[in-house]
Amino acid sequence: MSGSNEGTILVVVAHPDDESVGAGGTIRRHGDLGVNVDVHCMTGNEERNEEMKAACGILGVRNLYLSERDDFTVGEDLTNEVVGAILKSRPTIIITHHSSDYNRNHQQCAIIVSQAVEWASHITLFDDAHRVERIYNMEVNTMISRPNVHVDITESYPAALAALKKHKSQIKKADSFYEKMYDARTRLRGVQAKCKRAEAFSITLPEHAGPFYEKNSVDRLI
Ligand SMILES: [Zn+2]
Repeated sequence: MSGSNEGTILVVVAHPDDESVGAGGTIRRHGDLGVNVDVHCMTGNEERNEEMKAACGILGVRNLYLSERDDFTVGEDLTNEVVGAILKSRPTIIITHHSSDYNRNHQQCAIIVSQAVEWASHITLFDDAHRVERIYNMEVNTMISRPNVHVDITESYPAALAALKKHKSQIKKADSFYEKMYDARTRLRGVQAKCKRAEAFSITLPEHAGPFYEKNSVDRLI
């Protein structure tokens, strides 16, 4: 799976289990297609990181970047951490949370990723600056009202569910809330996408406001 020419996806999440709940089927599907998938997680502890390693093993993740941070707030250090992950992974696209999720850490993560994508593209800051093409915002707790794209995960769903179940400390919470949500949501998204199961995303185009790239200079608009 590694060293392919199929590009790289970097998944940036707030907590261990978000990768499985939000994009488990999509991660596994792309790994099966030969795409490199790396995962960067902003918080964690010993127990949850072990669960995360087991889950990401099932999902076929190439590199897993873990943290022992308990909780977090929006801050430059976290933006820098994500910039570091971007410069290391050099992804074509990033999958992360959406900023309307009801979980505060998920909101923060979405904002941090947007900032990090901008910073990472500045050649005035980094000799090895990297430009991410698109950000895909996934659903974890709050559904996206108008998703831009659905990924058919019919084939990868069993592996994604097995990965989710590796998060043993979370999976039993609130009468198996996350497992029920994942089951019901992927079926609903499947109905909308005319397949058995799907994961939905909204797309954010990075601002790329820095005038550092030839692509940003044109001699006409149409
Ligand atoms: Zn979370």
